[in-house]
Amino acid sequence: MIDFCDVSKTYQNGTKALNGLNLHIDKGEFVFVVGASGAGKSTFLKMIMREEVPTSGSIVIDGVELNSLKASKIPYYRRKLGIVFQDFRLIPNRTVYDNVAFAMHVIGAKNKDISRRVAYALSLVGLSSKVKCYPNQLSGGEQQRVALARALVNQADIIVADEPTGNIDPEMSKEIVDLLSHINQNKNTTIIMVTHEVDLAKQYNKRIITIKNGTVFSDTAHPEIVGVDFGIPEKTSPNAYYEAPLEDAEIENFIDNYGKNDDEEASASEE
Ligand code: ADP
Repeated sequence: MIDFCDVSKTYQNGTKALNGLNLHIDKGEFVFVVGASGAGKSTFLKMIMREEVPTSGSIVIDGVELNSLKASKIPYYRRKLGIVFQDFRLIPNRTVYDNVAFAMHVIGAKNKDISRRVAYALSLVGLSSKVKCYPNQLSGGEQQRVALARALVNQADIIVADEPTGNIDPEMSKEIVDLLSHINQNKNTTIIMVTHEVDLAKQYNKRIITIKNGTVFSDTAHPEIVGVDFGIPEKTSPNAYYEAPLEDAEIENFIDNYGKNDDEEASASEE
């Protein structure tokens, strides 16, 4: 699904950020990308998001060759991606519902589909009860879960998470990664999580790609964890925030109740 073939990137000022990077990530994989500051992790992500193009080498993602992708096709390509940032990037004066719905409005989705899918995405991240809250009424971990719902709501094939736990406390960090892990296993969404928290990554029996000096330095799950847990799927570990996705009737109920006694909010979400 994701193929980097001998990818190098030299920025205009002469800095070599990637240096002959080769990588293959299959559909449905969950990979951590770790490395010291300056190793090239952000450049790697920018390549996936098609914000930068390689100086040499090729990148093919889900059949799309990114070097030759026309500028007019980039927004359509990016719909494959759900992106989660370290600083959440929620709209402060919009409710949880509207923050998630926004991602669907921009691609021109119908209001009926928006209500249904927002309800579903929020149930996946365990935030159905916070639908009318504003970001500043939520903890850091909850805000990141809203951002995750926003990344999920358009049914992205790939979630790219750039230091998603960088601004939240360690306990919450584990829950965010557990949630990504659930999504990966239940939805078969490919997940690429960049982090400098190697110890957090090592708690999971997942592929860890270490980037050093712009190339792949190592590519292996943490050996101790492989030794202990080999063959035991991650989904056996409970997740405090994961709810069973809403049934159809519950979604109808959610939609009916969203905005009840609050016409202003309801009409804002129906715009
Ligand atoms: P990481 O995310 O691992 O910290 P980056 O990909 O941000 O690494 O950076 C890799 C190298 O490229 C660093 O030396 C950084 O200073 C440099 N770099 C990143 N972005 C640019 C840019 N736009 N212009 C010039 N140099 C850059």
